[in-house]
Amino acid sequence: MSKHVLLNVLNSQQRDAVLHTKGPLLVLAGAGSGKTKVITHRFAYLATAQKIPPSSILAMTFTNKAADEMKERIEGLTGKSAAGLWIGTFHSVSARILRKKIDRIGFSNDFCIYDENDSGNLVRSILKEFKIHEALYKGILSKIYSLKASLVAPEDLLANEDSYGFDEKFARVYVRYQDELKKNNALDFDDLIMCAVKLFEQCPEVLQKYREEFSHIMIDEFQDTNASQYRLSKLLASKHGNICVVGDDDQSIYKFRGAEVRNIRAFMEDFSKTKVISLEQNYRSTQRILDIADSIIARSSDRMPKKLWTERGKGDKIYYCVATNEQEEARYIAQAVKELYLKGKYSYRDIAVLYRVNQQSRALEEAMRENGQPHRIFGGIGFYQRKEMKDIISYLKLIANPDDSVSLKRIVNCPPRQIGAATITRVENEARKIDKSLYKTMKHILKSHGYTASLKDKVSLFISIIDELIAHREIKLPELIEMIFEKTGYLECVGEERANNLKELVIASEAKDLRSFLDTASLFNGLDENNADDCVSLMTLHSAKGLEFPVVFIAGIEDGLVPHFHAIKDPEELEEERRLFYVGVTRAQDMLVLSGAKRRRLYTSLQEQQPSRFLSDIPSGCYHCIEKRPRADAITSSIINLPIDLLNTSPFAAGARVRHPKWGIGVVRDSYGETDDVKVMVNFPSVGMKRLSLKFANLEKI
Ligand code: ATP
Ligand code: MG
Repeated sequence: MSKHVLLNVLNSQQRDAVLHTKGPLLVLAGAGSGKTKVITHRFAYLATAQKIPPSSILAMTFTNKAADEMKERIEGLTGKSAAGLWIGTFHSVSARILRKKIDRIGFSNDFCIYDENDSGNLVRSILKEFKIHEALYKGILSKIYSLKASLVAPEDLLANEDSYGFDEKFARVYVRYQDELKKNNALDFDDLIMCAVKLFEQCPEVLQKYREEFSHIMIDEFQDTNASQYRLSKLLASKHGNICVVGDDDQSIYKFRGAEVRNIRAFMEDFSKTKVISLEQNYRSTQRILDIADSIIARSSDRMPKKLWTERGKGDKIYYCVATNEQEEARYIAQAVKELYLKGKYSYRDIAVLYRVNQQSRALEEAMRENGQPHRIFGGIGFYQRKEMKDIISYLKLIANPDDSVSLKRIVNCPPRQIGAATITRVENEARKIDKSLYKTMKHILKSHGYTASLKDKVSLFISIIDELIAHREIKLPELIEMIFEKTGYLECVGEERANNLKELVIASEAKDLRSFLDTASLFNGLDENNADDCVSLMTLHSAKGLEFPVVFIAGIEDGLVPHFHAIKDPEELEEERRLFYVGVTRAQDMLVLSGAKRRRLYTSLQEQQPSRFLSDIPSGCYHCIEKRPRADAITSSIINLPIDLLNTSPFAAGARVRHPKWGIGVVRDSYGETDDVKVMVNFPSVGMKRLSLKFANLEKI
């Protein structure tokens, strides 16, 4: 795209931001005002008009999905591939630097990355050993995460115990956890950032190299950076000072993970002469959606004042539906999705259903399945999180790094090889005695006297499999995975579905090397699966940050969910819930549908639910309220004022067999629409599901 076109599609504030290429820049603006657009256009402008080598521009954001989108847009603007450029998440950028240089601070460059599951397992085994209730592991892990986010290493904690207010027991767990990670040659997510900071602070020549290299730095969603991410950014910008951050304090939703909104204010102090630009035109949403968003966020205290306006006009009505329980709520949503789809304006991929907690997805998914609606849950159990994937990936991790004891423990008896809990404990005790990883300890057991023959036999069988695989670690990755199947007999002990998933893993590994494949798998969360298919997206409000959809449903607008019951007693946390609701509402472009249930099964108990307290901040004229009565009339009354009685009377009702001039015979799955404009969904064995207008499709009833 030429420089001219690149700038012409922007408004004047956005253009100012793109043209301000020297010195610090802060773009502070509300949702949908084009902050991310500024980053992509600024990147393209620097690379094309200013002839800055693209490899000298670092652009960071939070989720892989956002990073991928950024890459794609930049490719579209520059017309060049973005492969290999420094566009990624804070975690992936740090991992890439550490892969080359972490040996400078005493780790080995072939470290592995532990995801939250691996870290959880490690903490649990430490708690067990310390005789602390294992169920506490989640709380402990989140304390560890927030310390790391603030760059407090175990040694700092021990030196300053009182000032952090943690008890000695916790400090011991943290110290031990960090020691075990080191022994396993592993880093958890937060270590990636903490170690990168440590690397730069302890090795000035490494910092020198990178701060020289990155002539321009850009950060999206800056309001959600934590102390360690901010420190990392400052270090990298300390040579050229060309750093552009964009964010919205109203959308800060990761305080619970250590994010610090005050980084926005700190930025202006740390980088003197920061140019501040605000954007006020919202290009995403209709006026009705913005009005609701504004009434929610206006009540937020201590915010930087902002006002958004749009040229998009009032737009469609906004609905708030109250159902009797969560199943009715889910049916209502599925029904509305069906109406929207059959009306023809929207595809499934234009629709998102957002919710506060993962658990809510179950009822929603059930209702969509009943209605035959393609949908995908993002951020739930993703491809790489499935058991069989994690097992095989653990083998790969162990092959790449035999000291990774968490992975070893995961697969030592999988498939079963009679290495039970007692044997594992035995090996673990030995490992502690000789202060070695489990793999090295097993080798030690095989070489030494004084162990029973039965222990040696079991260990020997396992080690011989692993060593043989290690000996082949340089072969092509798909072959290595096939070899794992063959040597371990894994495929024989899983069902057909899991075996099929594993075949997908072999395909996913093609043309990749072991290391980079493992990095992708660890940093990949369910959110990153590509959304090429025409599916409704189901995800939590947190995962929806930065995204936009023509139609957005937000389910569970009830006290206890929005706001979450954990937050209700703490005014600050309540504010974060308010912002989260604001983030959800501002994802919508054309249509917004809120819903809630009067009763809901949450965790184990059935609870009477009250409408969200945040609803009372929205003037009642802003939305149209629908009270959903039990099921019978849910079928005959339309959800968004569209007659659906045709469903039963049309000759093309569900189940009818029809012939199409091109696709042949098919079965009607659904029919719908106004009398003169009936739409049907027909499943043709030859081409799959098609949505057709009866008026034009020349369907013949047979
Ligand atoms: P969020 O706060 O949710 O991250 P954002 O400020 O990053 O939002 P973008 O995602 O960059 O906003 O932009 C929102 C939508 O508006 C996108 O579809 C984008 O293409 C469009 N948009 C932004 N600026 C313009 C413009 N000047 N002209 C036309 N469309 C625009
Ligand atoms: Mg954005």
